[in-house]
Amino acid sequence: MNNIPEAFGSLVFNREVMKERLPEEVYRSLKHTIQRGEDLDITVANVVAEAMKNWAIEKGATHYTHWFQPMTGITAEKHDSFVTPDGKGGVIMSFSGKELIKGEPDASSFPSGGLRATFEARGYTAWDPTSYAFIKDGSLCIPSVFCSYGGEALDKKTPLLRSMEAINEQSMRILKLFGTEARHVEPNCGPEQEYFLVDKALFNKREDLVVCGRTLFGAKPPKGQELEDHYFGAIKPRISAFMKELDEELWKLGVLSKTKHNEAAPCQHELAPVYSSANTATDHNQLTMETMKKVAERHGLVCILQEKPFEGINGSGKHDNWSLSTDKGVNLLSPGKHPYENAQFLLFLCAVIKAVDEHQDLLRISVATAGNDHRLGAHEAPPAIVSMFLGDELTAILDAIDEGVDYKGAEKLQMEIGVHVLPTFPKDTTDRNRTSPFAFTGNKFEFRMPGSAMSVAEPNVVINTIVAESLRQFADELESAEDFTSALNALIRKTIKKHKRIIFNGDGYSREWKREAEHRGLLNLPTTADALPYFTSEKNIELFTRHKVYTEKEVRSRHDILLESYCKIIAIEALTMCDMAGKDIIPAVDSYILKLAKTVNSLKAAEAPIPHHVSATLKRLIELSDEMSASLKRLRANAEHAQRNLASEKCGVYCRDELIPVMRELRNAADEAEQLTERAFWPFPTYGDLLYYI
Ligand code: ADP
Ligand code: MG
Repeated sequence: MNNIPEAFGSLVFNREVMKERLPEEVYRSLKHTIQRGEDLDITVANVVAEAMKNWAIEKGATHYTHWFQPMTGITAEKHDSFVTPDGKGGVIMSFSGKELIKGEPDASSFPSGGLRATFEARGYTAWDPTSYAFIKDGSLCIPSVFCSYGGEALDKKTPLLRSMEAINEQSMRILKLFGTEARHVEPNCGPEQEYFLVDKALFNKREDLVVCGRTLFGAKPPKGQELEDHYFGAIKPRISAFMKELDEELWKLGVLSKTKHNEAAPCQHELAPVYSSANTATDHNQLTMETMKKVAERHGLVCILQEKPFEGINGSGKHDNWSLSTDKGVNLLSPGKHPYENAQFLLFLCAVIKAVDEHQDLLRISVATAGNDHRLGAHEAPPAIVSMFLGDELTAILDAIDEGVDYKGAEKLQMEIGVHVLPTFPKDTTDRNRTSPFAFTGNKFEFRMPGSAMSVAEPNVVINTIVAESLRQFADELESAEDFTSALNALIRKTIKKHKRIIFNGDGYSREWKREAEHRGLLNLPTTADALPYFTSEKNIELFTRHKVYTEKEVRSRHDILLESYCKIIAIEALTMCDMAGKDIIPAVDSYILKLAKTVNSLKAAEAPIPHHVSATLKRLIELSDEMSASLKRLRANAEHAQRNLASEKCGVYCRDELIPVMRELRNAADEAEQLTERAFWPFPTYGDLLYYI
């Protein structure tokens, strides 16, 4: 790719293309739909569809598809060709406004959590004009929402758009009180994507990787990541070639891929885009994940997005960098330079503090998957306890406000909000704590709990909604105040006092923090099974319905889908372990036992002494073989029990208590056996093979 600016977005029907190809009044009408959410007129849609089709055909497309994000977490598409009979035995290429706006895929095989009975298979996809159409693999892809016949959301985009509307509405109420010129507020998101790359041939030799996307067995290799030599290290040529092609593919799709580097674990890497609107960022992150997998295959690699592919080394996250900005380009989380900007900043900051403290459960739920549970609370990821990092300086400012004393910071400025200027604190001082789940990083928050495989839609839905709720309460209070400045002062002070327990600037990985958090009354929900019951609490249903993000039915259905998928994943992993242990590992260990036994016999026959390690290994392997057989039997029975009871409310707890511990037992025995067994006998590639031979 020689001319990147020219190639960038070349497969996207973006604003420039629209401007060039649409009649002026049609372009204006579409722009209003996009910016103000006005309904799209069918005559306008017809003209847009015609222009899109012609553009797409020029770019080599033959098909179109509504591209949507069902609850599976990946994207879905159903392709129709533009080919239409012309009535004279030939064909024309056609695409109508109706086809652009609405599609009706059979929805019966997508998870709906009881929202759509299978006999009522119809679902609707509807174009989301706020996200540009693009061309992928010869198809014009139309970003769409997906709902049931009854209008309930069956996807991740619909609630995201609703939550963006909610936070816009409440932020505007606040901004009006400060006399804003802005007309619209939008949440922004920059999702940093971590991933692993492993050799495809080796990957395919492991059933656990192929079926579950993560290893279920594997002894610790002699070298893990203790030397810290991979993070930001020189990128190997094979990986570099992959990254180059990935960037090029993404740029053509208009994805602002920016940063690439090696991550902490061997074979682990990261891609970060330039941030954009939460809606576009979510779409682009889905495209990024899909493109990573596709490009990896072309390089004889497999891209692993699962959150914890290898035990004992870092898992992969997806840091959700989140901020709020106005259509005038003002970042509402930027401290600003003038007194009123400071006060406005402090108010928005307080809104986030209050939101995180009051809705720890929802933030935890927004990242709850079977895969991510292995990561949260392991040594590299933030713990399952939600807290916030603000940095020393900002915390000191809040403390001063809380205590009603002067801020004794570097510049010793008085801190009466709305009157004096906040000291400017350099971004650097706030960006050092990597252990916090929710960290203020200068002019945005970085939510570090999301796992690498998940859509960033859910975390954004939750952050948008809970902050909207804080802002709503603030606006109610301030709109009715007689003296705005004194009400504002009181409100900020009150909020800090009430919610400062959520602020923690120390080491989130430490054991002391667990104890301290408990002491502060913060929630600790280590597993998805612990977190999910909170989703349907009265408080949460009230929150989501008030802001029209989910209906009560939608909350309940989402809860059911999350629970069922948690159980299904664990049961599948358990059965995969049984398969591997029964068909590969135990037979391999037994063969080696036989070899050792033969050695012992031969030595005895030769009246030679038997080396101690031979008899000791033989004895231990026999014990381990027995242990593995016993665990396997139990695990299979429990996994089958879980699979029969997927619809039960208790299934999550059952998986947590009756499957995961037995999986642990089986793995411990197998991993020990791996270390005692001769290399040639081991039936699949080891951690060392996978991580160091790329
Ligand atoms: P780090 O690894 O130090 O967190 P990176 O540069 O890897 O930093 O990632 C930072 C991410 O945050 C990028 O995706 C960037 O675009 C995004 N970002 C920067 N400013 C904002 C903002 N105001 N709102 C949302 N995201 C932002
Ligand atoms: Mg980061």
